[in-house]
Amino acid sequence: MSSEPLYLEDTTRRTFEATVESVAGDRVVLDRTCFYPTGGGQPHDTGRLRDEAGREWHVTDVTKKGDVLHALDGDPPDPGAAVTGEIDWERRYAHMRYHTAQHLLSAVLLEFYDAETTGNQLYENHAHLDCAYERFERSDLDRIEARMNELVEETRPVRWYALDREAAEASLDPARTRIHLLPDSITEVRIVEVGGASVDSDAESVGVDIGADAPFDRTACAGTHVADTGEIGSVDVTGRRTQGSAEERIEFVLR
Ligand SMILES: [Zn+2]
Repeated sequence: MSSEPLYLEDTTRRTFEATVESVAGDRVVLDRTCFYPTGGGQPHDTGRLRDEAGREWHVTDVTKKGDVLHALDGDPPDPGAAVTGEIDWERRYAHMRYHTAQHLLSAVLLEFYDAETTGNQLYENHAHLDCAYERFERSDLDRIEARMNELVEETRPVRWYALDREAAEASLDPARTRIHLLPDSITEVRIVEVGGASVDSDAESVGVDIGADAPFDRTACAGTHVADTGEIGSVDVTGRRTQGSAEERIEFVLR
């Protein structure tokens, strides 16, 4: 059986209790976990596991191959052991801010340039995104940066939920999500939406329903995000690079 991914529902949860299901080398599978595994351009979480006898392990790597595998820095606990897990929150929260900023950047690139995102990679203190476009000038980067900061200042709500694959395929914008690239085994798709209205202007809908307004952005994503765009902080588009004949890389940092 597969670990319950606690990180998909409550992205702000830092600690959890779990049982070791199996051990393979230095890697353990837990029945539930808050540790995000590397994927979708977002690096894995780090943190600690502790058992009831007070033994402690650092979680040094997290990958997902069916199960979520936690690499530990010492002899792992035995199957059946009860453990408490804690993720390094500063690292995770930085990833959440950068990941949500990446969604804004992808949406702004479509809004202004009809440029589809082809790849992205984020870190704790910088990120880059590749898109299908000939060549950006500094004036383009300034325009993109200004629009992203406007969306941040508007503190737009961000929400996520699961949807049947069929409903997702029928309703997702193909320019935002390459749903045909998802393996056939995936029957449920996680949707992430950035609201069309700010949190302030539509206070009743916060955290429940964005309302009748169409979302600003709606895409399939299994990463972790902040609850509203205001948490992103100010965006600094630091540069661009060519990635080939019709592909550009945009680099940004958050302050
Ligand atoms: Zn995402």
